[in-house]
Amino acid sequence: RAKNAGRNRLASFVPEMTLATQRRALLEAELRRAIEQHALVPYYQPQFDCRTGAMVGVEALLRWPHPQRGFVPPMEFIPVAEDTGLIVELGRWVLQRACDDAVAWDRAGAPPLTVAVNVSARQLKEKCFLDDVLTALHRSGLPPDRLELELTESLLMEDMEGAVAFMHAVRAAGVRLSIDDFGTGYSSLAYLQSFPINQLKVDRTFVQSLPVAGHTIATAVIALARGFGLSVIAEGVERPEQLEWLRAAGCDYAQGFLLGRPMPAADVLALTVARGEPA
Ligand code: C2E
Ligand code: MG
Ligand code: MG
Ligand code: MG
Repeated sequence: RAKNAGRNRLASFVPEMTLATQRRALLEAELRRAIEQHALVPYYQPQFDCRTGAMVGVEALLRWPHPQRGFVPPMEFIPVAEDTGLIVELGRWVLQRACDDAVAWDRAGAPPLTVAVNVSARQLKEKCFLDDVLTALHRSGLPPDRLELELTESLLMEDMEGAVAFMHAVRAAGVRLSIDDFGTGYSSLAYLQSFPINQLKVDRTFVQSLPVAGHTIATAVIALARGFGLSVIAEGVERPEQLEWLRAAGCDYAQGFLLGRPMPAADVLALTVARGEPA
């Protein structure tokens, strides 16, 4: 009996694993093809100055419109891109697109927006990544201080020495650096002193519970940023009372569904034009 039960368990377990493996292989093949065909698109989520309400920048967020499954969320395909190394090519492409789009908005008369691009640990490991950044700037003609790279604490901790060297090099070129999802990683506060960064990004989880629960950590992050002479932006602002709280607490910038969803490049331009016109 016991033997039988064991066999049954195994029988129902193996095909499941195979299925997961197959799905993963399919996703990988499809992603590879989508990258080759430039089927992925960067969307851009606007970022606003809390005091003036002006739109000051955007964050590039990759979107994969899949022919059968609709938009595949980045949470699904970014890890695959990271594991397979496809993120190196994909990341290089997003970087270039983001810089090109920012210059296109300039030319169309938008106010100078900062464009933030997310960086994976895997990209940072590549020796060529600094060159990729400089090439994207050079080819687009975007002023370096209009490009911001978003790094996470875990990425910085993975290879501290390499990351710090990269940060100094990219800062020397004039590019801005922001720590994404701040407060959720495992970096020590002591490292903040030695990181040549410009901004902290308060993680969505702390913003979501404002003003009731998240305020202790949000207050601390804003104070930390102040103390180190960094700017601070809150992500995931969904409700007016959260924005009110952040404004009163002295947070510099805000980003979230309340203020604007990630959108195609053309809509960013329309948004800046619409905002620039008198009501
Ligand atoms: P992230 O960099 O922390 O980006 C913020 C995520 O929060 C985005 O999810 C955005 O759409 C979402 N978001 C913004 N405002 C709100 C809000 O008010 N409420 C809620 N609930 N969510 C909000 P998205 O676009 O699904 O991206 C998820 C993650 O995928 C990103 O987190 C980033 O880590 C990664 N990712 C996206 N694009 C890229 C990329 O080009 N390169 C790399 N390396 N990673 C990327
Ligand atoms: Mg980000
Ligand atoms: Mg984030
Ligand atoms: Mg996040």
